[in-house]
Amino acid sequence: MRARLARLRELQESPVMDHALSASRVAMQPDGSRLIKFFFGEELPFVSHGSGVFVYDADGRRYLDGCSGAVTANLGHADPEILQVMAEQAERITFAHRGTFHSEQSEKLAERLGAMTGYPYVFLCNSGSEAVETALRLTLQYWRERGEPDRARFLSHAVSYHGATLGGLSLSGHPQRRWVAEALLHGFNELIPPYAYRFAEGRDDAAFTAFLTKRAAEALDSHGSGAAGVVVEPVGGAAGGAITPPDGYLPALAELCRERGLPLIADEVMTGLGRTGTMLASQHWDVRPDLVVLGKGMGAGYTPVSAVLVSEHVVDAIAAGTASVTNGHTYGGNPLGSAVALAVLEAVESRNLVANAAERGKQLRAGLEELAARHEVIGEVRGLGLLQGLELVSDPVTRSPGDPVGSLTRSAVLAARERGLLVYPATGGINDAILVAPPLTVTAEETDLLLALLDDALSAMSQCTR
Ligand code: PLP
Repeated sequence: MRARLARLRELQESPVMDHALSASRVAMQPDGSRLIKFFFGEELPFVSHGSGVFVYDADGRRYLDGCSGAVTANLGHADPEILQVMAEQAERITFAHRGTFHSEQSEKLAERLGAMTGYPYVFLCNSGSEAVETALRLTLQYWRERGEPDRARFLSHAVSYHGATLGGLSLSGHPQRRWVAEALLHGFNELIPPYAYRFAEGRDDAAFTAFLTKRAAEALDSHGSGAAGVVVEPVGGAAGGAITPPDGYLPALAELCRERGLPLIADEVMTGLGRTGTMLASQHWDVRPDLVVLGKGMGAGYTPVSAVLVSEHVVDAIAAGTASVTNGHTYGGNPLGSAVALAVLEAVESRNLVANAAERGKQLRAGLEELAARHEVIGEVRGLGLLQGLELVSDPVTRSPGDPVGSLTRSAVLAARERGLLVYPATGGINDAILVAPPLTVTAEETDLLLALLDDALSAMSQCTR
């Protein structure tokens, strides 16, 4: 365990690590374009258009979007209802600064979000990273207003992803994304990840939960009156691939926070608004975090929009102090983004997409388990609802990842893409993994097609590695 955590730290600080983990490396402009952009070891196709769960490239090839882009396009593509709301709102007004006007659209959006999640206050931003920063800033302000300005230490998990900005990266246990900025980052990511496949070391779920909880308590207490809060992805996403905690862990972490009066912040940018088969993933364990961060599925790929849901006592502390939250982002709460997000939330509710995520999630999970029984490259299937992850291993007995780490992830993504299926690379620096997370609108037939394409891709991979 110690050796594994030390290795993570080492990777975090190593500038050469990015080359070893070249799953999504930027090759400097092999096509001569001016645009700094991603290559996946080769050129990517140009996108043309989308329809439902399918995306088409400029050469007319069809792809089943098995990862909703970046676990974002929760309604699928070109949804006529959303497009109509977009067009109507765009004709009325697209932008008015929130420092000059209130907008009916952002009021309604906050109202709807509150009703769907049970939180009394909402702060609107544009991306997951911005919303994570906002949650950190609101928590810091909460402590300042209460006369404890030294509380500035957040704790998060050693395998995690919380965003590309400096606060988000400080929280992130993702060596590949951290290393460039390491000099400016805090090492908030010190909690042992609830990642049983690599960290339980023979403990059953109850023993692993007890172990994680004890170590989290020690970490929190080591910061004494400097601790500000804990940030957690209820189910992990981009780092490690749908890492799902043992059942007792999130409630135990919430209890540790409650005992110490520390805010628990759930980063539900990927998991929120139905993705895991409940409105918020924290609800799987009856946990009510003090703050919740939403993004991705909130705009569902139709608009950049995100939010922080805030509990009463956090806002009360601010209201009793300066009564002012001054930070924000230019586009935050703009009428167009708010109207579109509101339409997305209405669609999630009126089409029963949370229930569909739970139902299709069961079908997807059963199919993935069946694939795991036939493909040795799958070390573990994990996740909840329509956020499923496959741990990929070069040897199921030793559980070794690819050599170099990231290479199996890359092969899987490319093999799938060649067969017209999109899956998301989720290597966490010490492992290989992909996310399978189709839109919440996916049908039973489309789920079967996804599984058949993945089966074919995994067969092709094993032929290459044999
Ligand atoms: N938090 C989590 C859990 C995420 O998965 C992501 C993105 O993958 C972010 C934050 C950052 O969101 P964005 O890329 O919209 O800034």
